[in-house]
Amino acid sequence: MSLSQPKVGFVSLGCPKALVDSERILTQLKVEGYDLVPSYDDADVVVVNTCGFIDSAVAESLDAIGEAMAENGKVIVTGCLGKRSEVIREAYPDVLSISGPQDYASVMDAVHTALPPKHDPFIDLVPDYGLKLTPKHYAYLKISEGCNHRCSFCIIPSMRGDLVSRPVDQVLREAEKLVMGGVKELLVVSQDTSAYGVDVKYAEREWHGKAYATRMKALCEGLGELGVWTRLHYVYPYPHVDDIIPLMAEGKILPYLDIPFQHASPRILKLMKRPGAIDKTRERIARWRDICPDITLRSTFIVGFPGETEDDFEELLDFIEEARLDRVGAFAYSPVEGAAANALPDPVPEEVKLERLARFMALQAQISEERLAEKVGTTQRCIIDAIDGELAIARSMADAPEIDGLVQIQDGRDAGLVPGEFVDVEIMGSDEHDLYGEVAYQD
Ligand code: SF4
Repeated sequence: MSLSQPKVGFVSLGCPKALVDSERILTQLKVEGYDLVPSYDDADVVVVNTCGFIDSAVAESLDAIGEAMAENGKVIVTGCLGKRSEVIREAYPDVLSISGPQDYASVMDAVHTALPPKHDPFIDLVPDYGLKLTPKHYAYLKISEGCNHRCSFCIIPSMRGDLVSRPVDQVLREAEKLVMGGVKELLVVSQDTSAYGVDVKYAEREWHGKAYATRMKALCEGLGELGVWTRLHYVYPYPHVDDIIPLMAEGKILPYLDIPFQHASPRILKLMKRPGAIDKTRERIARWRDICPDITLRSTFIVGFPGETEDDFEELLDFIEEARLDRVGAFAYSPVEGAAANALPDPVPEEVKLERLARFMALQAQISEERLAEKVGTTQRCIIDAIDGELAIARSMADAPEIDGLVQIQDGRDAGLVPGEFVDVEIMGSDEHDLYGEVAYQD
């Protein structure tokens, strides 16, 4: 047997869903005996997993393909931009193959053609839970693909198709393997987590001798059995989201909800083709906080959507002032090629969009600062992400990796903390994003 294994380079762009696709492909490559290498020079072929969500992501993806072509020359393209193969072919006619998101088989076929595998099952060791691109202690868990909604600003359904849910037993088994591999925090992702299972009519499956429906609540109950943190992302504001709040209050899953509201003016929500009953949303938030007072609410909003008047925008400001959400991301609307919203009348001038975005962010910064200041003097359960000099960099239950704030533990190194460890932290200070504290109790 030759000692030299075929070598593959990998460039992963895009959102957590694309990251999960990358992890699957990397795992399969490793299973088949390919070496994964970090430089173009060392690679026999390069796979680029692209994003095509907004125009800037398309440009970034094309740049990445161009760089791989220039530096290596043997390039396989996959991911969201692969759905628009003509754009790629026009810029780089010599790429070896183009496939869309989740099309692992096409990527593997292309790799096999370019570079036949040399696999020896006796020396190739792959952990049972696969290879991950996130740190060892947290992992994204993709529960479905596609989306049945047709939000007018979004082209994901045309790129990824309608909702396809993974069977609940399969998801729970994957989660269990991740936990056995050292994962302490599971981040549930999809395009629409609350719609989970609707396409398979909530089919029941068995896991550990018990029936579970392919449904968000049953999934959360199953994940709650694993004894690690479970965090829900991309939850669409349906009424049945109410059903999972008691699981948060009972400590089965984290009291954290990432629920993109996008706007608060019923008129704009209608133009966005999103649920428009904002008064019901207000009532629902109040009810969630009654049931689970510690719940952290994260949301995203779009300002300057076509047709947004100053009155609509002020309605949005009133909503965030009243709702006092913990974490908020906001974007100035930018047209996405192929989105229905592009045909809407009355686009908001660029300078007005930016001025509204600045007003929105200033108000939310103040709310965020006040919300975090309320935590000073409390003790927060945290997970350690890294050690940086004397500090341990951690996150509380209220902080998702990459998108939320951090907890800086001043005596983290002296306490001997290590990444992936849970610790109780006494919070002594705060600012607009982060908390600062010292170790109160270590497991
Ligand atoms: S719910 Fe999300 S993925 Fe689905 S159409 Fe709307 S924005 Fe796009």
